[in-house]
Amino acid sequence: MDYKTAVAWEEKYFANVFSRLPVLLVKGKGNYVYDDKGRKYLDLFAGIAVSSVGHAHPKVVKAISEQAAKIIHTSNWVYSEPQLHLAKKITQLTGMEKVFLTNDGTGAVETAFKLARKHTKKKGLIAMEQGFHGRSMGALSATWTEKYRKPFEPLVPGTCFVKYDDVDAVRAAITDDTAAVIVEPIQGEAGVIVPDKDYLQEVRELTEEKGVLMIVDEVQTGFGRTGEWFEFQRSGIKPDIVCMAKGIAGGYPMGAVAYRGMDFEKGQQGGTFNGSPLACTVANTVLGIIEQEKLVKNAAKTGAYIMKNLPPEGIHGRGLIIGADVDDAPKRAKQIISNGAIAIYSGNTMRILPPLTVKKGEADMIIRLIEAIKNEK
Ligand SMILES: *Cc1c(COP(=O)(O)O)cnc(C)c1O
Repeated sequence: MDYKTAVAWEEKYFANVFSRLPVLLVKGKGNYVYDDKGRKYLDLFAGIAVSSVGHAHPKVVKAISEQAAKIIHTSNWVYSEPQLHLAKKITQLTGMEKVFLTNDGTGAVETAFKLARKHTKKKGLIAMEQGFHGRSMGALSATWTEKYRKPFEPLVPGTCFVKYDDVDAVRAAITDDTAAVIVEPIQGEAGVIVPDKDYLQEVRELTEEKGVLMIVDEVQTGFGRTGEWFEFQRSGIKPDIVCMAKGIAGGYPMGAVAYRGMDFEKGQQGGTFNGSPLACTVANTVLGIIEQEKLVKNAAKTGAYIMKNLPPEGIHGRGLIIGADVDDAPKRAKQIISNGAIAIYSGNTMRILPPLTVKKGEADMIIRLIEAIKNEK
């Protein structure tokens, strides 16, 4: 299929929900992706912070084919070893006690909300302005953007929004019926908004004092993206619940929620596909690669190098989640494509989210690409 056919088929057969970049991707290798004409692009978005170990990593390809030949799916009626290894690993990485596995980030957020209500027997949820947590009815209730939310109201009652990076706003919103506060440690979909360095710690102290749960949504920031395994760890805090997904299995659909001091009763949460042997094997392999190839450190180092070598004006982020403010993001995104790379955007912020495997030479290319869109007219 060529690009023109793809556009026509999308228009005719596909749900009218995605604003696509003008590219038909057919394969990827390492930090590059290729279109239908064999044109090569440096990957600056990793499928929205997902392809953490790059494309077609040999260990991932091997793990998928070997596990597929053994068993793809078991359901949760039986025990399965890859699932238990992954759960143990996530508790070790996050410092939490228990893990539930989902198929995506939205599922992790839904699970967190249910757990918070079940544990506290309260209904209220405080979310952040500009925040993003997913598009199912529950997760959407905590997602700020009106365009996503309004047509589907009424959503889950008891949810309110407060200013991000403002602990006093959280304090003012807490009531006797507040179950939890949900916060992204860096707001991703909002355009890479990094809060004050004391913010998470202040929210933790406040929620602890008030007996309110703190849910940290690390769906986009987790698994090394920011130069820490999890961004909340930079603040030295211990949340009650951590949501994660995007980078966990390098592109295989998978999400997780880790928590402590609480649990469900049998049957209160579940899912036919959740934590399949195949998904868990891929996640275990990807987490192993992140460790073996020291990709958390690489994200910290390479991200700092990119940011240090760009004029600071309109550049914000941490590790390999970087926002670059531009005059006209859709136009600049197209320009980046014609310059041989692919990046996404929110509002007028380009979002730079390359695989964690990005190398020094590629970092130099990223710097040049960003400079080009900032200078060109
Ligand atoms: C992407 C994202 C989600 C939703 O995850 P999906 O896998 O798209 O369901 C939730 N929270 C944050 C912070 C995200 O970036």
